[in-house]
Amino acid sequence: MVRPKTEPKLKKKKKAINEKGDSPLEFPKFKNEKAMTVSEICCKCTGCCRYVSTVLEKPRNKSTIDHYVWFLLHKNVQIYIDNEGDWNLLFITPCTELQPDGRCGIYETRPVICKEYSPDSCSRVGKDHTHLFKTPAALLEYLEEQKQLKAEKKKSQKKIRN
Ligand code: SF4
Ligand code: SF4
Repeated sequence: MVRPKTEPKLKKKKKAINEKGDSPLEFPKFKNEKAMTVSEICCKCTGCCRYVSTVLEKPRNKSTIDHYVWFLLHKNVQIYIDNEGDWNLLFITPCTELQPDGRCGIYETRPVICKEYSPDSCSRVGKDHTHLFKTPAALLEYLEEQKQLKAEKKKSQKKIRN
C-alpha cells in the first residue's frame, strides 16, 4: 500500500503533542541561601509567580476522565493531587506582573493569595503534591492502578467476611 506523503509529518506532530514540551516549573535551591534574605530568595526563585492552579473534582466517571485527558493534551497544563488528597489543575504560565529582576510589578496591590503565600511553607521547601500528571498516559495509568487496587481490596474484604 502506498502511504500518503503527509503521514510521517502527522506522526511527528502526534509525538510532539504527547511529549508536550512543557516549560518546567522550577523551585531552585541556591548554594549561598543561608546568607540570603527571604526576599532575595523569592526574587531569584520566582517559582510561585509562574503558575496558577485551581481545584478539580476527583475524577469518578468516564466523562470527567475524558475532560481531564483533554486538559493534559495542552502544553503547560498539568494535574496534581496535593498532600490533602485534593485534585488540582495547574497552568504553568508566568504572571504578567513578574518583573525581569524577580520583583512584583504591583507589590502594594497584589492579590490576597500572593500576600498570604508564605516562603516558610512554599513549594521550594518540600514536595506539595503526592502525584503529578503531565500527560494523559500518566493520568490513565494512575487511574487504572487505583481501579486494580480497589478491586483487590474489595476481594480481600470479601474473603475476610466469608
Ligand atoms: S515563596 Fe517560595 S516558591 Fe515562591 S518565589 Fe518565594 S521561594 Fe520561590
Ligand atoms: S501579582 Fe505579583 S506576587 Fe502575585 S503572582 Fe504576580 S508577580 Fe507574583
